[in-house]
Amino acid sequence: MNQKPCNFVRNMFSEYYRENYFSETPSKIEKREFGFVLFEGFMLRHKSFDDFEALRSFLRSSVPMDAYYSCAYYENPTAEMDQKGWLGADLIFDVDADHIPTSCDKVHDEWICGDCGFVGKGITPEKCPVCNGERFSVITWPCEICLESAKAETIKLLGMLMDDFGFSDKEIKVFFSGHRGYHVQIESEAILSLDATARKEIVDYVTGLGFNAEPHQTTQRILHGWSKRAYMGILEFICKAEEDDLRKIGIRSNVAKAIIQNKSVLLKDWQLEAWRKIKGLGQETIKRIMEHVCNMQSAKIDTVVTTDIHRLIRLPGTLHGKTGLKKTWLPVSNIESFDPFNKAVAFEKGTVSIFISDAPEFRLGDETFGPYKNQKITLPTAAALLLICKGKAEVME
Ligand SMILES: [Zn+2]
Ligand SMILES: [Zn+2]
Repeated sequence: MNQKPCNFVRNMFSEYYRENYFSETPSKIEKREFGFVLFEGFMLRHKSFDDFEALRSFLRSSVPMDAYYSCAYYENPTAEMDQKGWLGADLIFDVDADHIPTSCDKVHDEWICGDCGFVGKGITPEKCPVCNGERFSVITWPCEICLESAKAETIKLLGMLMDDFGFSDKEIKVFFSGHRGYHVQIESEAILSLDATARKEIVDYVTGLGFNAEPHQTTQRILHGWSKRAYMGILEFICKAEEDDLRKIGIRSNVAKAIIQNKSVLLKDWQLEAWRKIKGLGQETIKRIMEHVCNMQSAKIDTVVTTDIHRLIRLPGTLHGKTGLKKTWLPVSNIESFDPFNKAVAFEKGTVSIFISDAPEFRLGDETFGPYKNQKITLPTAAALLLICKGKAEVME
């Protein structure tokens, strides 16, 4: 960030931590490691706090751009990594729009070639079209479509955690990250001591890795876990499918037609025998449909986060340096109706005059803004702050 916008953002963050930062105390706070990215441009790690007051007073005096804490508990949180004495860790999941295919095709994203400086829009290419360089910096956007898809993935994940693993909604905490996704955190004795390998098994389960779905050979309908998900998924898919949907997953036209014509038979009888009776519908087609359905049922998570038993994650209630929005807790039962662009707004008052170089249309609260291109304008503080944090605007003198 340039010096001038940086000062403005720091002042706003400072005001927030002085006046509006409230959060529930992280459990076993004294056993966790804290880390901070400071506006001065470096990261401070291996910090620890005895209580919430000590943490709050640190936030007020240091005013970090980003604040994190460990999912792990340690005997000595301030020691070097190998001296800390790992005692266990919460189970965490990160659902970020960067890892999810979206209908907006990320047109709002901008990438800059690290070698030649060429700027492009949309999904980052493997190689720069100008110089073949492979290093890019990417500016993403907290877009409504992206966040809705992240929410849908989070809902699938929560379904598995509660129905298949048996966690209660009291053990599960869900947060909007303040940027482009959701965090799910489980604090429970049952998972505390799981090592990275055990956590990888959980990752494989929720992403559906290695699940081999086949239509049933018998009439038995008492299904659990992934068998049930696959069964429900295929009914839903076949029920809604049109010829085009089937062709999109690589099924030939005549076979797709046969499936559509025999929908009622297939929906009534999800057995291999029933499928085999339909002309042209072979093993390959069944496999394609199953793979598609399993992909739809799996939860798209950032797998690395869950298996890292020392991971630092954003501290609830603190501001995200890329948006000025706060990491916000939401009740599991209210996730469907949760509106991140309303609940995560940290500044409700005032306006700021800014010059915007380039910004897509966006919404905060009930108000829609933009798109903007090279213009001076006065915006509500939260909207101005978002654009400045994203490097798309500067404060006017
Ligand atoms: Zn280039
Ligand atoms: Zn998007």
